[in-house]
Amino acid sequence: MRQVEGRHIVIAGAARSGVAAARLLKRKGAIPFVTDSGSISGTIQNILNNENIGFEQNMHSDKAMTGDFLVLSPGVPDTSAIVRGYIKKNKEVFSEVEVASWFCRSPIIAVTGSNGKTSVASWIAHTWKIAGKEYILAGNIGMAFSDFVDVTSPKKDLLLEISSFQLDHINSFQPDISMILNITPDHLDRYQNDFSLYAASKLNITANQSNSDRFIYNFDDPILSEHANQLAMKEDAPQLLAFSSSSEVACGAFVRNGNLIIKTNDKEEQLMHIGEIGLKGQHNLQNGMATALAARASEINNEYIRESLKSFEGVAHRLEFVRKYEGVSYFNDSKATNVNSVWYALSSFNMPLVLILGGRDKGNDYSFLEKQIREKVHTIVAIGEARQAIKLQLEGVVPHFIEADSMKDAVKKARKAAKRGETILLSPACSSFDMFENFEHRGNEFKQAVLDL
Ligand code: ADP
Repeated sequence: MRQVEGRHIVIAGAARSGVAAARLLKRKGAIPFVTDSGSISGTIQNILNNENIGFEQNMHSDKAMTGDFLVLSPGVPDTSAIVRGYIKKNKEVFSEVEVASWFCRSPIIAVTGSNGKTSVASWIAHTWKIAGKEYILAGNIGMAFSDFVDVTSPKKDLLLEISSFQLDHINSFQPDISMILNITPDHLDRYQNDFSLYAASKLNITANQSNSDRFIYNFDDPILSEHANQLAMKEDAPQLLAFSSSSEVACGAFVRNGNLIIKTNDKEEQLMHIGEIGLKGQHNLQNGMATALAARASEINNEYIRESLKSFEGVAHRLEFVRKYEGVSYFNDSKATNVNSVWYALSSFNMPLVLILGGRDKGNDYSFLEKQIREKVHTIVAIGEARQAIKLQLEGVVPHFIEADSMKDAVKKARKAAKRGETILLSPACSSFDMFENFEHRGNEFKQAVLDL
């Protein structure tokens, strides 16, 4: 463990994880100082004042530039002056997850990926609950890892949802079980528009693992299977557990004749028929397999895993069924903030659809959706700043292209366009910040508009 007592440690970014790291370091006897290039909210200022933690806002003073090392809130990019300053001086820069891991006594199960992190972390928690196994669920999903460190213990598993930003600055973080669900383009603005840099930060999750650890990965993802091949050549590599919805893997989970098979140590076990999995769609099959492997690696019995796969109902705003009205089903997939998650949403349906798309564009290539849209979608209702970009790429692909000014208006127009037996799907492919506070706000507005019909 690193000695932090009495050290002057600077934390950049007064967001949830940054503040949690500052508080943790204070509890461990360090002298934390929080700096933010923007303004710090009154609530956070009160927390810092109450805990006697120094801070500054709208600047990075000399004091901020001269810490023993720097800890980052995930919102702070590597291009910021403060990170560049520390790196130039050859001083260490750590993510909040790295710092929290120095003090963690629990086995760590860390889940990352471009899409599905929250769904899988929640599914794992659901499984642990069913099996009566103690756990803490933390990270991207709610409270920061640092907030829980004091209650970790070898008997309690720490289930950690972790973003690529949190993996950018790790140096000893070593999960007992790591998991990467998929790597598809997202957040490229933070990685110099270079997909390989974004991928590399996710792959970092295995960097410190050794042969008593496990790595669970999506065999169907070419970057991940290549990474597993590289790891397999290393002497002290983690044990590899693959999952695949399209081929049989040597060690891990796969489907044969509609049955979910778990294969470890050359022994095959038939877990259940995939039709029994509560959540539908190919991505949920993948998420369920990943969850099952994490559970098997943690010695949870098959009967509990089966029960969990059958009973998990998913997380709000992720392909969430809202209501059937006038014979039309409404689904809220507000968390689909990139093109890939919309692709999986579309592939979960085989009936005619009205698709509500749009929001703040992140440089999306909507043409990736063209094939599925041609097959299934008869009407696109476009909202938000991305309307024009979507129109340019997709207007010619659907029979009807409509624009709407608000969520209420979008739901109204979608209802008009849909016929009995069809589905209306909000799966926007964009972030929500042009019209809403966040994706939850957007999803709730959609649900309210649907319930108000
Ligand atoms: P994250 O936490 O990684 O953002 P979520 O679980 O919140 O992921 O889901 C985000 C979006 O991705 C939702 O639209 C969801 O339906 C979709 N999704 C969930 N799992 C997967 C997966 N394995 N592959 C692709 N998309 C997925």
